[in-house]
Amino acid sequence: MSTSVRTSVSVTAVARRGRWVGGRARGGNGRARASASASAGADVARAEAEASAREAPEAQLNGAVRPKVFTVPERAIAGAPLRVFVDRERADALRSASACTLIGGYNSWKVGSFRKVMNNVKGTSWSYVDIDVDERAFAINFVFKGDGEAYEKDNGQDFEFDVAFGPTPEEFEDIMKIVVLEEKARAEANSIVDGEKARSREGAQGVSEKVEKYGRVICKTASGKPGVAGTTEKILWNKALNPIGGEAVQKLIMHVGFNGWSEGVENKVDLVPASGEVRDENNDWWVAEVPIRDGASVIDFVVSDVAEESWDNNDQSNFRLAMQTSDDIWDVLRELKFEEVRSKMLKAEIAEKERVERRAQENAEAKAKAIEVGLKQQAFIIRTEPKVPEVGKPLKVFYNKNNTNLNWSNEIYLTGGFNRWAHTTSVAPMKMTPPSPGEEFFTTIIPSVPSDAWMVDFVFSSGVGEGAQYDNKSGRDYHLPTRGSDAKKPPLHVCHIAVEMAPIAKVGGLADVVTAIGRAIQDNGHLVEVILPKFQFFNNSVLLGGREYETHFDWGGTTIRVEKCKVEGLQCFFIEPQNGMFQTDAVYGRNDDAHRFNFFCNAALEFLVRTARQPDILHCHDWSSAEVARAYWQHYHQNGLSKPKVAFTIHNMNYGQAKLGEAVHHSQMTTTVSPSYAGEVRGNPVVGSNGHKFTGIRNGIDADMWDPETDAFLPFKYNAENQVDGKAAARAELRRRAGMTGWEDKPIVGVVSRLTAQKGVHLIKHAAHHTLSRGGQFVLLGSAPDPKIQAEFNGLAGQLAGDNTGFFFAFDEPLSHLMYAGCDIILVPSMFEPCGLTQMISMRYGAVPVVRATGGLRDTVFDVDNEKERAAWEVAGSTDWKTDGDMTNGFSFEGTDTNSLNYALDRCLDAFYNDKEWFRSLQKRVMLQDWSWNRPALEYEELYYKMLGQ
Ligand code: ADP
Repeated sequence: MSTSVRTSVSVTAVARRGRWVGGRARGGNGRARASASASAGADVARAEAEASAREAPEAQLNGAVRPKVFTVPERAIAGAPLRVFVDRERADALRSASACTLIGGYNSWKVGSFRKVMNNVKGTSWSYVDIDVDERAFAINFVFKGDGEAYEKDNGQDFEFDVAFGPTPEEFEDIMKIVVLEEKARAEANSIVDGEKARSREGAQGVSEKVEKYGRVICKTASGKPGVAGTTEKILWNKALNPIGGEAVQKLIMHVGFNGWSEGVENKVDLVPASGEVRDENNDWWVAEVPIRDGASVIDFVVSDVAEESWDNNDQSNFRLAMQTSDDIWDVLRELKFEEVRSKMLKAEIAEKERVERRAQENAEAKAKAIEVGLKQQAFIIRTEPKVPEVGKPLKVFYNKNNTNLNWSNEIYLTGGFNRWAHTTSVAPMKMTPPSPGEEFFTTIIPSVPSDAWMVDFVFSSGVGEGAQYDNKSGRDYHLPTRGSDAKKPPLHVCHIAVEMAPIAKVGGLADVVTAIGRAIQDNGHLVEVILPKFQFFNNSVLLGGREYETHFDWGGTTIRVEKCKVEGLQCFFIEPQNGMFQTDAVYGRNDDAHRFNFFCNAALEFLVRTARQPDILHCHDWSSAEVARAYWQHYHQNGLSKPKVAFTIHNMNYGQAKLGEAVHHSQMTTTVSPSYAGEVRGNPVVGSNGHKFTGIRNGIDADMWDPETDAFLPFKYNAENQVDGKAAARAELRRRAGMTGWEDKPIVGVVSRLTAQKGVHLIKHAAHHTLSRGGQFVLLGSAPDPKIQAEFNGLAGQLAGDNTGFFFAFDEPLSHLMYAGCDIILVPSMFEPCGLTQMISMRYGAVPVVRATGGLRDTVFDVDNEKERAAWEVAGSTDWKTDGDMTNGFSFEGTDTNSLNYALDRCLDAFYNDKEWFRSLQKRVMLQDWSWNRPALEYEELYYKMLGQ
């Protein structure tokens, strides 16, 4: 909703004379609702409007600058009359029109559109029309139509006036939500009742008020006539044909439904020997008093003994008797059903709103915790008092040289600054006070943190001036966010240039990471844009329906057309060279991919130049957009695009190594997707002498996309609190899908993976055998691009086929969700793993990971028996797990042989068999750990600042 106030001449005049308003004079003065004053306002409005019809508009203007449009009363009132005047003389479209029509609506045209022919005020150029302002209005919008297609639209903006005493825009949104919900509820209720009516009519055909078999009546209504819906009827059943329960039994149960069991068994009613006039000499007739529900034209029932062990279901035909139902009842039922559905929908909506609010709060807490963990992890080198620096207050800084490269120095100096060194105030090198005996920390006090400081910055040194050595945290410097600053950190402008982005152009993990980093950085208050090629398949994408033209320019021997669209909340630009280069149905696969992507990278940079963008950071990914780094520094940096620095992320070291090497060379920072993997590949010839630029930042998972609490692919949504029930339901469904018979005490071990050598094929196969030998069940979702490997797995599936295995050779996203939820244990025995997502997804779904400790697996899974310290440090920045709690989250092994795997898997299975309660608590613990992008986003942010020298 626009709240802009146009400061035109006429608006000033309103203020001065308080008589008429110019277009779009949307003031914020008083949207207070008070029904008494609203109705008083309505009376005044009516009186004013009457008066205005008698007075000439010129007189009402009282000498003010002559407006094009004004209203009486000056401020429209919800639910009250309004007279709108327009000066035809001042509107080109109306000047010579034979008639003038007002076309109006409310609340930015969202409701109540109307058209009204206007009256001319004789002898003047004014026309007017009377309107009854909608009660739901907080604003009224209109345009004037002259002859033909001529419109007066207030310079294309349409006229928009505030309406007083209506709902606020927020209240209006709520009203509209209810309207939409009620429409939905009405439609659903009608469809249910119509279905019921049709079934009732159909079902009643051929059904009578008694049932005969072998020449005798076996059930009937006591009255001998069809029972009446909405009343209680005596229904008789003849015991002679089926003497359930023996002679002595005095009570049976009638299980009752209606209209062909349309809602299943709705009632259980006692059935007892009949007495009085319906009794017969053998006591064969039994009677039940059955409330017949409204709308029933057929009653269905079966009979059982009290224990529900012996049954009479009339040889599987059930018993059916006709009832009478009046036509009026359907309208009543419609209303009842509407109320029921409406209330259910409202409840669901409230629950959803609560869930969203809770989730937002959890997210905020998780983000705060991510920052806290970072500070804690730094605290063994540097900490402060207060813990979070406060503006306007002194700050005591503690520094422990023993854990740094200055451990040899006897003297330590602190140099400080604020706002990533951008603040005019700085702290000149200060000699820190050495620790007293038994202490480890040097200390000093910064007298006052400036009020507009949002960050405090430090480096430490062994001295001052030449020859001094520095601890600058490997080039990043130490930074602590402050509390209470009256200034905000300036946002960074980050521009990703990539050929994949989830979900619109997804081939692998690269696509997910581009979207996820982008969103996480944007969430932290920065401006993020993504530039992608415009592939042909975008034209059919429902996600890209809102594409808009952005610009076009001639370059590279063709015209480059650029469109834009928001994807997952990120502003994306699509580069479409008119030479057909990206008229492809897949991201990769043409034999000139390298050439096409190089062209794209240059065109993307050209787009930045042409639109005068100067991002702080260009972030490119893998070989396919590696060209950005070279082209930028060798060409564009000197030609108009001067500001950016280049970040380069390697998601996969195995492709396009020459291009990777080039980008590592030209980028200011290269990252790969986990710290351990960075360590493993730092020596790769691709990195060459650029090891110092190389950092590992682990990927995260999208905690909204992977959320068992909202996951549409699960039979029962769950969170850490009710995970036992949620996982039990998923387990049952997974067993059903896999054709496994199941017992609660059989653990299910699962694998979700591409089946390639990287993923430890021999260990996966071994684990299948081993799990079965330990009495467990084994399920696998995956497929092998290599036919030889696939054949091996086909053989394995054949060999192990039976009640305890399930092999799904497919890429099946919905099934993968069920696997994570249904498995007790997820196995990831990779030979190498840049980051790996499966182990993190498993944890979110409460499946315990068993992994080989390599790359990102090592950085995210901490062995319950051996890695309590490392877990506490990595998960919570804690140096004392005994006080802060056990944060281990899985089982890991080092070697690549089967015994190594057994070592981890056996301990996990033992834990499952021997102490189920502990195992369930471990599942809960892993669900509560945060493997989202919260922490990686902070690290990327740090990295971006570092590249900018801040
Ligand atoms: P990689 O990218 O090397 O395949 P990751 O662990 O990083 O391994 O990511 C694998 C992703 O692909 C996970 O989201 C996983 O759930 C998914 N996945 C792997 N195989 C399948 C499959 N057969 N069906 C559905 N999803 C799969």
